[in-house]
Amino acid sequence: VEPLLEKFEVQLQAAARGDVPIMWEDDDGPERLRATGRLLLSIYHETFRPRRVLAVERQFSIARLDPNTGRELDERLVGIADLIEEDDQGAVWITELKTAARRFDGVRLGYDHQATIYAMARAALGFPDARVRFRVLLKTKKPAIETYELRREEPQFRETSRVVHQVLRAVDAGIFFPHRGWQCANCPFRAACGT
Ligand code: SF4
Repeated sequence: VEPLLEKFEVQLQAAARGDVPIMWEDDDGPERLRATGRLLLSIYHETFRPRRVLAVERQFSIARLDPNTGRELDERLVGIADLIEEDDQGAVWITELKTAARRFDGVRLGYDHQATIYAMARAALGFPDARVRFRVLLKTKKPAIETYELRREEPQFRETSRVVHQVLRAVDAGIFFPHRGWQCANCPFRAACGT
């Protein structure tokens, strides 16, 4: 676990010195977050022994169909899967690693678009039978890690496809509202947002 913790310290110090200021939350501070981070990494390391890692940060691109006509559309849906791994029983998992301040509720788990898109992208990622799960590092008072398997079927595929389609239609119509957050740091549209 020591090399992992050392890497964490180096990354945290680099982030603290970086261009993007860190907005510590009210009852958080560098020392408290550092301690929580170390504890979470130690729990992760102890709980999940290394499995067979098949891919990390693997990109995918899938065709999109118009939800009304079924016609293939010009824009494709692209993304990157954090981790693809095989467990001791030989099952392949697309694993999304997340940190969260609280447990995910049933609605989020049932309809989370990211999980649905991973399920849609299984064949494009090269693992058509892969299952999808979230591993959530909970930054609660007593840090913990929870794993949720996410089953996806036709209703979720339909809903996510429709949401993606509607968002693109809104963009085409010039509807745009900034949604500021951690994602702004690496966003290619920062200049347009004036950040
Ligand atoms: S910088 Fe990017 S992510 Fe942030 S609000 Fe603007 S468009 Fe959204």
